[in-house]
Amino acid sequence: MEKQYLFIDGEIITVNGHNQIAEAVAVKGNKIIAVGSNEEILKLKDKQSEIIDLNKKTLIPGLIDSHLHITMYGTNCVSISCKSEAINSIEDLLQELKNQANQTPKGQWIRAWGYNENSISDQRFPTKDELDAVTTDHPIIITRTCGHISVVNSQAFKIANIDKNTPDPEGGRIDRNTAGDLTGLLIENAHMKMFATITFSADELTNAHEIASRQFAEKGITSIHDATGYGLSNLRALQSDCKNGVVKQRVYAMVGALSDAQNVVKHMVNAGIFTGLGDEKFRIGPVKLFLDGSSSGPTVWTRDPYTNDPENYGIHYFSQEEVDELFIPAHEKGWQITAHAQGDAAIDMLLNTIEKANELHPRKNTRHRIEHAGIAAPDLIERMKEQGVVPIPNPAFLYEYGDGYAKNYGERATNMYPMGDYKKANIPAAIASDCPVTDFNPMRGIHAAVTRKSSSGQVIGEDKTVSLLEAIRMYTLNGAYASFEEDTKGSIEPGKLADLVLLDRTITKSNIDDIPEVQVEWTMIDGEIVYTNTKEGIQA
Ligand SMILES: [Zn+2]
Repeated sequence: MEKQYLFIDGEIITVNGHNQIAEAVAVKGNKIIAVGSNEEILKLKDKQSEIIDLNKKTLIPGLIDSHLHITMYGTNCVSISCKSEAINSIEDLLQELKNQANQTPKGQWIRAWGYNENSISDQRFPTKDELDAVTTDHPIIITRTCGHISVVNSQAFKIANIDKNTPDPEGGRIDRNTAGDLTGLLIENAHMKMFATITFSADELTNAHEIASRQFAEKGITSIHDATGYGLSNLRALQSDCKNGVVKQRVYAMVGALSDAQNVVKHMVNAGIFTGLGDEKFRIGPVKLFLDGSSSGPTVWTRDPYTNDPENYGIHYFSQEEVDELFIPAHEKGWQITAHAQGDAAIDMLLNTIEKANELHPRKNTRHRIEHAGIAAPDLIERMKEQGVVPIPNPAFLYEYGDGYAKNYGERATNMYPMGDYKKANIPAAIASDCPVTDFNPMRGIHAAVTRKSSSGQVIGEDKTVSLLEAIRMYTLNGAYASFEEDTKGSIEPGKLADLVLLDRTITKSNIDDIPEVQVEWTMIDGEIVYTNTKEGIQA
């Protein structure tokens, strides 16, 4: 007999069509079977039923992070974190690297991530020479917090076959000093190519996936849209770690790579499969490219120059013709298409391709996506609406990087991740953390969507906030819509999969600024408890 849970006396945020808040819900096996009042749900009691009193705490649908990088995050967890409180200067970092080198066999990579030159005392990047002074027996890579820029030592350059005479790759720069010598700094595509040379064993990947999945479950994340990592071998590893239960979350896997995505895309489009293949556990998502740089780099591709640099329009990776050539056939063959597009010029480019694809090969319900859709000006939002496009914004970026946006993009910063504009235009935007670029804790993203507050307290575009319930919808049902799965998950309604999260309080009654502190009591995926913060499990 299948187990039946009757959850009563809670604040059940259903995210149904009427934004109803119910008292009770019944789960049987892996499905939600009824939602209603305590009285209605208690009528379903039988021998297999376990009655759980939620004590007025909030139950929400499982959270869906519509864009993060599970493999990158997991591998970061076993590397040095520059976001650690122990690292406040380059000196601190070099010491950490030395410790790591002493424990690492010669020849193996030493990796650090999350570096932000703006938040350490030196206000600059370390140099190749400083890293060489740590070790020349190991390759070292320090990746910037945005994941688009890094610094490496001589050994890394040797492995990648780069010397001072190597030309810059398209869409990237191998930084050199005035004498023409390598400084160690790699920007955009030069970084992506270096990053792709870092190899992980199958065991390292599985370990990384296990760590990341466990942490995601602790924050109530029950589904992820993986935004790619190390190409096809990474995709295979992720697929098998989903099947064998190492990754607990349901995965919608974008197809691409951090480096050389166009070849991965071409290969998969020609393979004869398309978006949607798979099951409730693991499904093939859209094909994905990178069109421009990062919002905090700052390297996004803009229509007008940067506010503090009239010569700077950022970085882009492809011409319009190249994007059309890759994506129009993908659309024709049934793929959902998407790209990392942060600047308004990059969003414009992707919309041009989507418009052409829909015009040349009309197809219903395409739900093409735009990852991030950073500077989403009103004219671009209108075009998204016309084409049925689903943007995947990152409101938590406003918290972590918002102060920098105001400096680099001026007034345009108020158009960034405009959740309120999407709501007004009735566009089902789905929120994502882009972890490891920002904290994956959904409460951080929800708070940022509701307040648009930067870490210093600056409010960026106060007319573009949304309500708490709307932000929860964007973190649940809209994420399910972005992967064509709104009929099976994303809300608490009879017939849907039992992906549920209990919070530690009545969230609608808490102070808005306390939301980042909200904790998860337990997380259920497919009717199974995958995380609980109490020894007693979820017993009443
Ligand atoms: Zn990303």
